[in-house]
Amino acid sequence: MCGIVGIVDAGGVSIQLYYALYALQHRGQESAGISTFDGTSLHKFKGSGLVADVFSPSVLTDLKGTIGIGHVRYPTTGQNLPENIQPLNFRFQEHFISIAHNGNLVNTSELRAGYERSGQIFITTTDTEIIAKILINALSNSGSVEDAVRTCMHKLVGSYATLIMIDGVMYGFRDPLGIKPLGIGKTENGYMLASESVAMDALSAKFLRDVKPGELIRIDAEGIRCMQVAVAGRRAHCVFEYIYFARADSIIDGVLVYDVRRKIGKTLYEEDPVKADSVSSVPDSGTAHAIGYAEGSKIPFVECLMKNRYMGRTFIMPTQKERERAVRMKLNPIPAHLKDKSVVLVDDSIVRGTTSKRIIGIVRDAGAREIHVRIGSPAIKAPCYLGTDFPTREELIAHNRTEEEVRKSITATTLHHISLEGLIKATGFEGENLCLGCLTGCYPLPIEGENARPSQVDFVDATYQTKLGTFEA
Ligand code: AMP
Repeated sequence: MCGIVGIVDAGGVSIQLYYALYALQHRGQESAGISTFDGTSLHKFKGSGLVADVFSPSVLTDLKGTIGIGHVRYPTTGQNLPENIQPLNFRFQEHFISIAHNGNLVNTSELRAGYERSGQIFITTTDTEIIAKILINALSNSGSVEDAVRTCMHKLVGSYATLIMIDGVMYGFRDPLGIKPLGIGKTENGYMLASESVAMDALSAKFLRDVKPGELIRIDAEGIRCMQVAVAGRRAHCVFEYIYFARADSIIDGVLVYDVRRKIGKTLYEEDPVKADSVSSVPDSGTAHAIGYAEGSKIPFVECLMKNRYMGRTFIMPTQKERERAVRMKLNPIPAHLKDKSVVLVDDSIVRGTTSKRIIGIVRDAGAREIHVRIGSPAIKAPCYLGTDFPTREELIAHNRTEEEVRKSITATTLHHISLEGLIKATGFEGENLCLGCLTGCYPLPIEGENARPSQVDFVDATYQTKLGTFEA
């Protein structure tokens, strides 16, 4: 999972890109980068760490131009190496090309091996460089970016919300299943594309609409145009964006994430009601779910854990031991809200089980009598190949374990995960328009050794439209 943003704005872009990346920080904390183009030269800066640590005012002043793209990285493919930090920048003929990608390809090795056999070299270990290779090869054949994007959609298997800056033109496209989010916004003097609408809110830009699955958007100083390149028989929006990944205040594919989480909380109560003194969340990722639970159950919402806001997401720490220590640093209990109380503790998901087990220990040590754990996702049973860091089956606590076995392992008084049907209903989508691979083990794309229900993708012989469609541009 990563965050991407691209802006074309006559007023300059570096500060806007910086704030947009800041708003997308939750999508990746390993590294950040920005590339801009000023009409003659490419300016670029990237580094490891948080957006605020990577960029300084003087760096941003040097990132000149009225077009640029940015990226925050969360490593799902490619090691934590400086050369893997995005945007990736290339020279091709007389052109400056930058590329930023959110998603994960599942046919990288095959494609890469093919290029290497023909003598081509790679400078990173990311799947994003494969996208760049396909684009540049196709460009050298036809000279048309639109044809190159079409070739990408033919060859790439996986999830890809992608931004490409070629000199003074920005292109954005989304895989035909729309697995990863990408939205369009209107800035004061131009347009932007970003992973989530909160990036537009941060710039007081107007969110116009989502990029459609299989659609190509082109933005330059003259304005914005769109073209449908491919159409699939279904969509496969990542359900985890709604459960955990996206910010609750984002609107993704027409749905406010907060609403989904609140409905999940309400459903959790309806599916398995329990009597308790209070409802509490594991902050912040479980808070909207817990508020929905409290509304549905009429049990008061009383925070029992306070979060140290200055620590990153613990999941992203490299070793298990560091992750465990970080949980204690990150969450402090309020014993006065817990002593001799029966609490419903709501969280978004259980992956390896480390966090839940630790947190339940903290809550119990602070005096809770009963801890009823409610989880906003069904049990995670299978890995994610499409951009979320869900490990191998063996590392997943719910793999080959019943809910009762998981309950015992995390030492909860009771445990309930939302049902798959309840979750689907809470999102408002048809189940077949969601990627539920990590929950069902059935993926929307062919993946070696896994079950899949792939959809037919048709390519459209279209031209650019100047009207953006559903919403006024
Ligand atoms: P654990 O069960 O210890 O592996 O951690 C689960 C917690 O990590 C959840 O409650 C989420 O808040 C968070 N989480 C879930 N999925 C992810 C992910 N793919 N990347 C980072 N954090 C995640």
